[in-house]
Amino acid sequence: MRLQIALLLIIISLIMFAGQGSMVDWRAIQSVAIHSDDWGLCGFLPESMILDEAQIELINPGNFPPVYWTSTLEDSNDVNELASVLAKYLDRDGNPAVFQANYITSSLQSTPDGWLEYDIPEFHPAYQRPGMWNAVNSAIEAGVWVPELHGTWHYNPLQMKSIVTGNRKLEELNNAGLLLFPDCMSAFELGLEADRKVIEDDLDRSVGIFKDLFGTLPHSMIAPDYVWYRNDENLWKSTGLRAVQAKIEQRRPNQNKYTGHVMKMFERGIRRISEKQLYYIERNCRLESLQHSDRDATISKCYDDVLTSWNRGEPAVVETHRINFVSTDPDLQNIGLSALDNLLSKIETQDVTWLCDDEIAQLSKTGTSSRIFGDQVICRNYTHSRRLVIAEINGHKECIYVPAREVVRIKLN
Ligand SMILES: [Zn+2]
Repeated sequence: MRLQIALLLIIISLIMFAGQGSMVDWRAIQSVAIHSDDWGLCGFLPESMILDEAQIELINPGNFPPVYWTSTLEDSNDVNELASVLAKYLDRDGNPAVFQANYITSSLQSTPDGWLEYDIPEFHPAYQRPGMWNAVNSAIEAGVWVPELHGTWHYNPLQMKSIVTGNRKLEELNNAGLLLFPDCMSAFELGLEADRKVIEDDLDRSVGIFKDLFGTLPHSMIAPDYVWYRNDENLWKSTGLRAVQAKIEQRRPNQNKYTGHVMKMFERGIRRISEKQLYYIERNCRLESLQHSDRDATISKCYDDVLTSWNRGEPAVVETHRINFVSTDPDLQNIGLSALDNLLSKIETQDVTWLCDDEIAQLSKTGTSSRIFGDQVICRNYTHSRRLVIAEINGHKECIYVPAREVVRIKLN
């Protein structure tokens, strides 16, 4: 009996800590991806808005990190400055650092005549950003910016409407561009309270908006507030997404306090073993400089975590939210940007390979990958033999022979 229990515990542990497997040796590739959430989010407030004590008390968003009271929508200057920093740091193949910006696609506005909706590239009227999309397109062309999907609203739109509607003060604040509303931090876009039909329609909508704006489908997804369920992963698969970010951070707000964490680890292990279409890309390094008082220590810790990830045979994935680079307080913005600059300068000395999620997912599955990068396609083969890599060349798919452990570039017309 004891032996059976011991065996059962060993099997459960093996499942809980199972990896997903990979066709490449990440120790040799020394890759770094940079994940950044909240791009395109009209919030949390316009830069001109100043809230008094009574308004802050009224809004009472819930569990809200203080630095987010300075969070606003990015402008062209923010994107240009970030792109310049990324472009400075070249990897072993001569490619610049690549920043994966995870986008929110839509925003809501309360008006005396009802609610209005805006889809990127359009924004709530309190967030006009002339030239911003030109800056984004230039950064994409330069190969330093890869858009991916974060969500439609970043909150449950029905909850926003029902809480704000009929409260004159909240309606005025929303109309003026404030995204926050009472308890919005627990009004999860993909929470259990959300209507499944609304979630399905919103995903179709955001994927369509994304495709229209960026000319490509999203490949990777990070759920707002890290709250999502298996149904959502199935929906993402049906749209062709192939990577899910930060599975290890996945939250179950209603889970049991004692058994919930173990159940979550067990479920994650099962998914890693059984999932064939989606690749789970974990964030194993953090650069959230503004949420820690010792900023130099944050950079050093993040750098150490990059090296540790490589030693463990994992791609290093750095999490750094938009708040580090876009703020109503220019001093905070400078701190966040220089922290990234500092981190990249350290990583650059380590024979790094900058990758985005789409490449990591392809490489893990097949050992090869292709990515459009400005006016070229980069095909990678990290296996030990010559391989055919399927790449999109001038609008149609072609097979490219790539020698073992080599990176090949094809110029587009
Ligand atoms: Zn977010």
